[in-house]
Amino acid sequence: MRDELILALELYLQHRASPPGKDSPEVAELSSLLNDMGCALGLDEPDTYRNPNGVYMKMMNFRRFDPEYTKEGKVGLTRGNKDEKKVWNEFASDSERLAIVCSAIKLAIQRYSADAELSGADDPAIAEAEEGRILTRLHRVRERSRKLVEQAKTAALKKHGRLFCEACGFDFREKYGPIGEGLIDVHHTKPVHTLTEGDTTKLEDLALLCSNCHRVVHSSRRWLSVEQVSDLVRRVFRDIRASPLHPSGKL
Ligand SMILES: [Zn+2]
Ligand SMILES: [Zn+2]
Repeated sequence: MRDELILALELYLQHRASPPGKDSPEVAELSSLLNDMGCALGLDEPDTYRNPNGVYMKMMNFRRFDPEYTKEGKVGLTRGNKDEKKVWNEFASDSERLAIVCSAIKLAIQRYSADAELSGADDPAIAEAEEGRILTRLHRVRERSRKLVEQAKTAALKKHGRLFCEACGFDFREKYGPIGEGLIDVHHTKPVHTLTEGDTTKLEDLALLCSNCHRVVHSSRRWLSVEQVSDLVRRVFRDIRASPLHPSGKL
């Protein structure tokens, strides 16, 4: 799991020159944290990675990517998986982001360890964010909050008199008639790792999106911004107009 790799990377980088051993308090602490995270996510399958030995291995698996280690001709462990390399590439040279993401993950584990809200199945339409599974679930829990969704819709209706997608302009009521009344997704625009910083979600952090655009936002690990999806929509139309099938230049 990516969250686990991110936390293991943090521990590795903190002790790069001499990593803590299998029986060290640091490794034991991370092992217990990962078990708490497993509980928060509702994962109870036995996973040897979460025992101190597994945690130690995971941490040491990063060594083979570490130039400070390999420059002396050492190779490090060669077992491991391809996610380790991705996590190394995304976070190892950005210690500030790594620290922020790790503390957000730890906060989420703390806050949700005794809560059923985050457990349950992952949404297949949502790519797990670079920041990992627990923060991805937290994002979904927040943007599905009935109270927030109602507040966001009420504010938009008050302002525009109707609900439409902020990226492509789609209006369910206009397209489907009365049955489309009130249909729109709410998306939380703040980066996933900032979600645990405060308890309250501000209305301005929410965007109204049609189901298609919302799906596109979450379609890859690096979630797109509403502006990026809006740009994509515009570019698609431009491309269609520019295609030889439309010599008139009009749709
Ligand atoms: Zn849309
Ligand atoms: Zn969303």
